[in-house]
Amino acid sequence: MATVRIENLTKTYEKVTAVDGLSLDIADGEFFVILGPSGAGKTTTLKSVAGLVDVDAGEVSIAGTSMEGVEPYHRNVAMAFESYALYPQKTVFDNLASPLRSGRTGKYSAQDQQQRIEAVTTTLGIDHLLKRLPRELSNGQRQRVALGRVLVRTADVYLLDEPLSHLDAKLRAAMRAELKQLGEMSSTTTLYVTHDYQEALALGDRIAVLRNGRLVQVGTPYEIWHDPVDTFVARALGQPEINLVDAAVSDGRLRSADGSVDIPAPTHLDLPDGRARLGIRPRDLGLVAPGQEAPADSLVVRGRVKLAERLGRLMEFSVESGAQELIVVADSDVRAREGDEVSLVLPLADVHVFAPL
Ligand code: ADP
Ligand code: MG
Repeated sequence: MATVRIENLTKTYEKVTAVDGLSLDIADGEFFVILGPSGAGKTTTLKSVAGLVDVDAGEVSIAGTSMEGVEPYHRNVAMAFESYALYPQKTVFDNLASPLRSGRTGKYSAQDQQQRIEAVTTTLGIDHLLKRLPRELSNGQRQRVALGRVLVRTADVYLLDEPLSHLDAKLRAAMRAELKQLGEMSSTTTLYVTHDYQEALALGDRIAVLRNGRLVQVGTPYEIWHDPVDTFVARALGQPEINLVDAAVSDGRLRSADGSVDIPAPTHLDLPDGRARLGIRPRDLGLVAPGQEAPADSLVVRGRVKLAERLGRLMEFSVESGAQELIVVADSDVRAREGDEVSLVLPLADVHVFAPL
């Protein structure tokens, strides 16, 4: 049973404020993701929970107990670092067994050790590497062993700092599906740091988005995806990034300055007159190829295809429309080529509206 409470945490290195008045409340058993670009303060936050940095202000409590003055060794947390520290002269098996033999969390019987190592290495896809030495592994394999070292033992809280960052995309996707199923992970409070929004959306019970050491938004993946509080969050989610269009709101309509976008203001948003920024995700835009009809009653923007690029099973188009350039991701059966005049279908319900610049 362990909640984690971070209250008003601040940590400054020389001139850089790495974490700036951060407060987070993490529930017992929650899989909590901290998402943000490099330098956002994610690692510093995790290290503060582990007790590995002296914070300037604020407090961390685990299971309702303040960790002030509690040595890292006495906090029952297990942390995996971005760099994978392994014993170079020990085999993978012994690297994984050593946290179970150290006695910090109580001793595990030989049978228990064997079972835990088996469960973790199967999930991580490293069960065939048990006799190897770290130098005989690839970076991705080493990173999985390092993660395994954390997950084999029980702890009140797992702290995982970009644990899949060195894996290739395919393996990363496969592992993120399996990670949460791993026995202990499914019930142990986990703080998981990543800069990869897909990982965050796939894994998090909730996600906190950090920018310059500050909390920008916290919520479920659904809330963060559907209701990003600002353009920073909206842009952090999605590749290619969300399209942003400056517009004026008046008479119940949204118009871009160049007139290319002129649509009814979404009634569910109840917008005051003035300026706004529209956000439209590339996958939410429809592309109507030359010679095809846009669905009746659809809101259409005209444009010309500047670039067409295949993205695996999808196509990415860059469409020039007035002064804007809009990115569209469409199914690959959409036949449009560079230079074609096309229509883009705007999905009113999926248009996000943000404060103006
Ligand atoms: P993230 O993990 O999100 O990339 P970090 O917590 O590592 O961010 O770093 C946040 C900021 O603090 C960065 O600007 C980084 O350069 C700075 N920083 C982190 N650790 C140190 C350190 N030991 N000394 C000086 N600056 C640091
Ligand atoms: Mg980091």
